[in-house]
Amino acid sequence: MYTIIGKTLAVAVLSTLASLLISFAFVPLMGGQVAGAGLVMTIVCPIVISIPASFAHFYLGAKLRSANTALAAARDELAEAYARLQHQARRDALTGLLNRATFMGELEALSQAGTHGGLLFLDVDHFKSVNDRFGHATGDEALALVGALLSGLAQDGDIVGRLGGEEFAIFLHAASPDRMLDHSQTVREAVEAIDLFSPSGQRIPLGISIGAFHCAPRFNPAEALAASDRNLYRAKSAGRNMVVA
Ligand code: GH3
Ligand code: MG
Ligand code: MG
Repeated sequence: MYTIIGKTLAVAVLSTLASLLISFAFVPLMGGQVAGAGLVMTIVCPIVISIPASFAHFYLGAKLRSANTALAAARDELAEAYARLQHQARRDALTGLLNRATFMGELEALSQAGTHGGLLFLDVDHFKSVNDRFGHATGDEALALVGALLSGLAQDGDIVGRLGGEEFAIFLHAASPDRMLDHSQTVREAVEAIDLFSPSGQRIPLGISIGAFHCAPRFNPAEALAASDRNLYRAKSAGRNMVVA
């Protein structure tokens, strides 16, 4: 406010000086004299006109600037919120992995791009009993640890998703059948080595069954997932904590 008043007074002084200059320059040329009531009006008129006009101008200008700043901040916040929402819509909240819909969308895109690779369908063994014996929070912790492990082992171009519950899927980008099997065994052993502890400090061993299927270029994502699911079922039937390709 002080700045606005200062600027308003400065304009009033300049207007008055300009008014005096013009009067003293032109009135004598027209045969008159700047004195008395004429001199008073030469001083009063610019003051009376400029003070309200420039106050309104500077005041509204300042309001407009602060409104623009607030608008820019709101726009930045909105952009951040939109990016956050987009991220949340694509990700599973517990593990941070791609959710089922996004995983399937990305798988479709990889198939259309002519990529081949290994598709793994993974299911944590006897997970219900982890929940039943140690509580849902420990179960959640197990899922988060498995999720972190799967994304930690993924390489550039691989995609990792949580399909739901204790079921995960991985597509190994351009992987050979050998790499697919190696990766599956690495994951299985790493899950076995996870240090998960119950609230009372007891170590909870985890196991995971993996159905693997090697996808040729232009594979059908739904059929490939069904094929890896069939192999997962075989792994479960054959005793769990193993890989079937
Ligand atoms: P299997 O070896 O045959 O796969 O047995 P399982 O117990 O792992 O499979 P089942 O389908 O019987 O049980 C899956 C359990 O996963 C049941 C459900 O309560 C639990 N579950 C699903 N989603 C979550 C979750 O987000 N958090 C926790 N803690 N548990 C979950
Ligand atoms: Mg399951
Ligand atoms: Mg299971």
